[in-house]
Amino acid sequence: MSSGKSTILVTGGAGYIGSHTVLALKQAGYNVVILDNLVYGHRDLVEKVLEVELIVGDTGDRPLLDRLFQTHDIEAVMHFSAYAYVGESVTDPAKYYRNNVLGTLTLLEAMLAASVKKFVFSSTCATYGVPEFVPIPETHPQNPINPYGASKLMVERILADFDVAYGFKSVRFRYFNAAGANPDGLLGEDHNPETHLIPLVLLTALGKRESISIFGTDYPTPDGTCIRDYIHVNDLADAHILGLEYLLKGGNSEVFNLGNGSGFSVREVIAAVEAVTGVPIPVEERDRRPGDPPNLIGASEKARTTLGWQPQYTSIKDIVAHAWQWHQQRHHSI
Ligand code: UDP
Repeated sequence: MSSGKSTILVTGGAGYIGSHTVLALKQAGYNVVILDNLVYGHRDLVEKVLEVELIVGDTGDRPLLDRLFQTHDIEAVMHFSAYAYVGESVTDPAKYYRNNVLGTLTLLEAMLAASVKKFVFSSTCATYGVPEFVPIPETHPQNPINPYGASKLMVERILADFDVAYGFKSVRFRYFNAAGANPDGLLGEDHNPETHLIPLVLLTALGKRESISIFGTDYPTPDGTCIRDYIHVNDLADAHILGLEYLLKGGNSEVFNLGNGSGFSVREVIAAVEAVTGVPIPVEERDRRPGDPPNLIGASEKARTTLGWQPQYTSIKDIVAHAWQWHQQRHHSI
């Protein structure tokens, strides 16, 4: 199936960004084993598209992890699995700290016990909180405003301390707004519940929702709606391969933003969906959603210069077109 390359453990490999990265790993010749509790992940995608070994379980299950490391020759771990609903993290922080922090710490301890010391971590621009300026560089202060962002920042801190104490090397990627889908239509975004803008607008185009709400039209932006940095999921997956190879070659621990470098407003996203689908989207203008900064754009030059990362799909139309292709087939087949 693959060359003599290493085996990579991918937690959350049945989820959105994880599954795209597993496909990229396979295409690059790596052996992959997925650990996913399938709370939000999709078994059908692993079995029908990814065709790699799936171990169903939690990152907090130390006996399971010990068995996993004993029975597989793991060279590095990519850690995608986490809960990621910002609103829920505010109402149920225990769930987020248990899974995202305690689960990750258990995984890291199992790795240390197995002498596996290379780790690629999914962090988030939510660790920055409300930005003091944009574009946001990696050196921007980190003051998360919700438990989700705080849980990711805690793991970043643990990783920095593990490097000092145990020589544990990590690449920490702070994603901006992951979006789009595999251009071949094999994989895409399928959250339940769905809260993200692009899939919700596409579900409206499909007639699964009556309208899209715009949360706030009085922001200090050119059209009054929030601006976000939408980064194509395949470009994220490419960055993960580069980050992994950087660590496998002996690179030091590093943190990188992963963003498009340009922002799109909520109205621009809706216009892109109308252009791609040809369907007019009914809009309802609503109050601001609590905790939404007006403008979140990342500076991602460091990933470009250090890792040689070159995002391919930076136009919002490409991002939306790939997501549209996926949504059409996913919602016709279920
Ligand atoms: N948004 C919106 N209507 C929706 C969902 C999202 O207007 O139904 C806005 C949201 O307020 C934010 C942007 O779209 O400004 C992106 O939101 P999303 O939840 O996709 O990602 P976030 O930036 O919160 O991680």
